Amino acid sequence: MSDIQEPVDTGNDKRDGLDRCPRCGATEIGPVVGTHKLQCAFCRYEWEPGAFDAGAAFDVPLDEIVGTVTTTGVADIEAAASTMVTLKCQGCGAEVVIDTGRSLQARCHWCRQVLSQNTQIPNGAVPDALLPFTVTHPQAVELIRGFASRRRMFALKRFREEFVPENVVGVYMPYLLVDGNLHADIAGQGEIKTRTYQRGPDNNKTTYYDADVYRVTRSFDFTVDDLTVESSSARADLDTSRNTNNVINTILPFDTKNAVAYDARYMGDFTSEKRDLDIAGVMPTVRHQLLSIARQTATDAAPGYDRGIRWESEQLDVKGTRWVAVLLPVWLYSYYEKKSDGSAFLHYIAVNGRTGETMGSIPVNVPKLVVAALVVGAVLEAIAIPIVAASAW
Ligand SMILES: [Zn+2]
Ligand SMILES: [Zn+2]
Repeated sequence: MSDIQEPVDTGNDKRDGLDRCPRCGATEIGPVVGTHKLQCAFCRYEWEPGAFDAGAAFDVPLDEIVGTVTTTGVADIEAAASTMVTLKCQGCGAEVVIDTGRSLQARCHWCRQVLSQNTQIPNGAVPDALLPFTVTHPQAVELIRGFASRRRMFALKRFREEFVPENVVGVYMPYLLVDGNLHADIAGQGEIKTRTYQRGPDNNKTTYYDADVYRVTRSFDFTVDDLTVESSSARADLDTSRNTNNVINTILPFDTKNAVAYDARYMGDFTSEKRDLDIAGVMPTVRHQLLSIARQTATDAAPGYDRGIRWESEQLDVKGTRWVAVLLPVWLYSYYEKKSDGSAFLHYIAVNGRTGETMGSIPVNVPKLVVAALVVGAVLEAIAIPIVAASAW
């Protein structure tokens, strides 16, 4: 992780403020949800900006990445940088403030034209790339309705009564994509079964195994492509006693290869969340994930141990990494549960804005669960844990 290279500039030649329709000059431009297109609300002209291309530094094959390759979109956040950005409206000269922690566009309150924040700013709000929503709002509402109704008989009465799928909102969530060129040395003990036999009286036999134990070591190079890690510390808060933030990570993966270059005009009615973690801040999570990939790779490379392998020591050598900041599309339905002991718990149902993968938690009526457990024991298991898997549409 030494030799930090000059970051690839992915966006500072863009313009902030009025960003006009190439045909009629209007600023009322938004996404055509379900596609990668932008559309002018006045003349209806539609066009598709190009795919994201981070340039030559990102064309280097994964196994040749050396050092830390970055873009301007993943630059370290300046601690003092405000989320509030003031744009001067080129239409009327008014000064318009945008809270970039929530939105990357604002309407000028004097001339009603839309202003966009396109260039990167030191607070981490503007990424390199973005993956547009292809799951539409009506589709997301149906997915969330389906998810909740399959669990309806277990849900709290209040949750059922207050359930309004139309409150589903689209949010662009900040992530870092990581490519890596790595080497791992892993050692442990593997067992191979040599004999199976039974002992004891006829009505109470016990089965025994004999196994040979081997010292297993594996030393190998490996690469990762677009590892996707949360770059908002609030979302990375995995305290499951307060919230179900980790739901967002259960709707991965996203088809990140299809990302487009960031353009504020994709925002439309969506809000966005700001990145507040730098590379150093997500590195512990990345290392953790790389180690589990390494262990899995080592296990796959040692198939003969039919009684399993217990890995005991690991060494990870990060030869090179490459980083891109993206906004990824998530539909969210949230519900704030006030528990009887006065504590509060935030439930979410989240839909991957690309694949429709839906996950979430709903507040559960405990007595109903107990009754259900007596009737259908198997169902309890699927419902009692806070995160319940649901199929894609
Ligand atoms: Zn137009
Ligand atoms: Zn104006």
